[in-house]
Amino acid sequence: MNSIVRVLKSLTLSELLKGMSLTGRYFFRKNFTVQYPDERAPMSPRFRGKHAQRRYPNGEERCIACKLCEVICPAQAITIEAEEREDGSRRTTQYDIDLAKCIFCGFCEEACPVDAIVETRVYEYIGESREDLLLTKEKLLAMGDEHEAQIAADRAVDAPYR
Ligand code: SF4
Ligand code: SF4
Repeated sequence: MNSIVRVLKSLTLSELLKGMSLTGRYFFRKNFTVQYPDERAPMSPRFRGKHAQRRYPNGEERCIACKLCEVICPAQAITIEAEEREDGSRRTTQYDIDLAKCIFCGFCEEACPVDAIVETRVYEYIGESREDLLLTKEKLLAMGDEHEAQIAADRAVDAPYR
């Protein structure tokens, strides 16, 4: 019985017609293509782009040099050196992320207890040398300062799911 059905299907070209009708339906639908860079696709608040270090509203850097991000990073892309400041608080003296190693897994921001290291929506960047792809503490803090409004808004939307 199965073989008769198969023969009938192939004689009537039913599979081909099914495929053609699907193609035809999409032919008249709205185009999915986005004219990048003039148009942008919608982006999730959880998008994992280039990293940034955040500060508190008083300008103090959030990072307390606990090194949890460094430990959890599966690509070993984070390098941290730290020391105690005169006021007794602990802060990093070096915080580097090597983007040539990073796999943008987001573990670092998940692990951070003070929301210091985050991944932004920024994905348009290039590096012409190894140094360009090394995010130093200064570069990370500058990214955070530049994108703080968007970072805070994204994290407010996402807060119930964290
Ligand atoms: S996103 Fe993942 S791979 Fe990249 S620095 Fe963070 S933990 Fe490491
Ligand atoms: S960024 Fe967060 S997890 Fe990493 S050392 Fe600083 S406080 Fe700890």
